[in-house]
Amino acid sequence: MNILIINCGSSSLKYQLIDSKTEQVLAKGICERIGIPESKIAHQSMGKEKITEQIDMPTHTKAVALLLEKLMDPTYGIIQSLDEIGAVGHRIVHGGEKFSQATLLTDEVMDAIEECNELAPLHNPANLIGINSCKEIMPNVPMVGVFDTAFHQTMPKKAYLYGIPYEYYEKYKVRRYGFHGTSHDYVSQRTAEILGKKREDMKIIVCHLGNGASVTAVKNGISVDTSMGMTPLEGLIMGTRSGDIDPAIIQFVGDKENLSLLEMNEILNKQSGVYGMSKLSSDFRDIEDGVAAGNELAITALETFSYRVAKYVGAYAAAMNGVDAVVFTAGVGENTEDVRVQVVEYLGYLGAYLDKEKNHVRGIETIISTDDSKVKVMIVPTNEELAIAREVVKLIQK
Ligand code: AMP
Repeated sequence: MNILIINCGSSSLKYQLIDSKTEQVLAKGICERIGIPESKIAHQSMGKEKITEQIDMPTHTKAVALLLEKLMDPTYGIIQSLDEIGAVGHRIVHGGEKFSQATLLTDEVMDAIEECNELAPLHNPANLIGINSCKEIMPNVPMVGVFDTAFHQTMPKKAYLYGIPYEYYEKYKVRRYGFHGTSHDYVSQRTAEILGKKREDMKIIVCHLGNGASVTAVKNGISVDTSMGMTPLEGLIMGTRSGDIDPAIIQFVGDKENLSLLEMNEILNKQSGVYGMSKLSSDFRDIEDGVAAGNELAITALETFSYRVAKYVGAYAAAMNGVDAVVFTAGVGENTEDVRVQVVEYLGYLGAYLDKEKNHVRGIETIISTDDSKVKVMIVPTNEELAIAREVVKLIQK
């Protein structure tokens, strides 16, 4: 069965068509600047030329129609008709406490997702628009929602509650939810498979280090703690997000700089992280170049980023009373050698030692710890689209 995976943002829409049997990506692409002048689509089908076209996409529905057109294009496409799409899997950022697994997107479910909108105002409404657009054009194709928060719904109360008045949890569901769940689930499962063990018998710490970054403690196959919170702002220092800070900073800096809460929130989400710290870039390739050129702020940003990751790994080793494998994934985790070196340098007390030669790789599934390392250190590239496709198939087959 071919599964269409849709990851819909407010002005962009990424898609992949995956053959669930072979798990091959048959086609993929991105629609950008939806609803903005000069929108464009980039599309590539397996074994065919990549095309980029500037086409007006005033709405997401137009974008969905266009991507389907490209999938069925006699020259650049890969399928002949819509009948060849068995189901659509939608990535949904926030499922609140309502969704702990992939779910068929009925009208009731759509209403329930809408109720989660205020927990993820930048993401969920866009996800819903994507779903509605697909439903409009493919009314008879099953639509499945896969939630970034779902995998973390197994966290115990002591891990998800904040130290604030309990009534805010009762009234507004203010609690930690965690994100990147599809990735943490997929990577921890792959880790166990690579090591020839059952995930249910393991303690795994997954470091998903991308533009957004989070660490998760996976004990006996379930998430028991994760570094992101009610929103993706908590936890690690990220590309542009601050991660953990003293909450009092918000009022202090807001008063000094005459900034509103909304503006402070924007600064913590979009102008902080390694971008704000380095005054250089949110892209770790630029930070690496800065480090190589001796840029002091870039050096400090990278060291602070890695130090924070190492502290979370330590915390989660404590939370699980041990760890069998520490795994790096996502853009930075898979590619930035220096970050892995800097993080693992702090983990000697756990018996985790890096083999510098083995670490000299990018983006492949591999063990990078020394042979005598008690804890395995690994790189396992994430594949959120494939993980979503698998969830969709599992649900459809049920
Ligand atoms: P993600 O959010 O997983 O797509 O990761 C994006 C981040 O990964 C960006 O900060 C990139 O700088 C970083 N990244 C992606 N590819 C590479 C690469 N080849 N080398 C170093 N960093 C990379």
